[in-house]
Amino acid sequence: MIELVSTERCVGCTLCVKVCPTNVFDKGPDGIPSIARQEDCQTCFICEAYCPVDALYVSPFDLPLEAVPTEMELVEANLLGSWRETLGWGKGRTTLAELDTTPFIDRILPARR
Ligand code: SF4
Ligand code: SF4
Repeated sequence: MIELVSTERCVGCTLCVKVCPTNVFDKGPDGIPSIARQEDCQTCFICEAYCPVDALYVSPFDLPLEAVPTEMELVEANLLGSWRETLGWGKGRTTLAELDTTPFIDRILPARR
């Protein structure tokens, strides 16, 4: 579930607002989005993948409020934008597509028996 928008990092590009399939964010007056409908988050990670400055954190778990890490803890654990990094999106990163040597047809067909 989306847990954090870093107002320190955000550059107000509104990409996350546009790509979220369930309209979780509201664009703020300064362009910085707010998490307006967290309960609608599908944990799809799309916003985090698109954020060009690694300003978002989507937790893979539905954390109780008291277990949600602070921004400082996320930065220290290198978790802000970590899904984007895993995908290899962003300058100087190696994409998963580059690493994946599976022939395309084997990726889309059921496993051979
Ligand atoms: S993880 Fe998906 S559903 Fe949740 S806020 Fe991001 S884009 Fe929207
Ligand atoms: S995609 Fe990132 S930089 Fe752009 S508005 Fe959203 S949080 Fe801010």
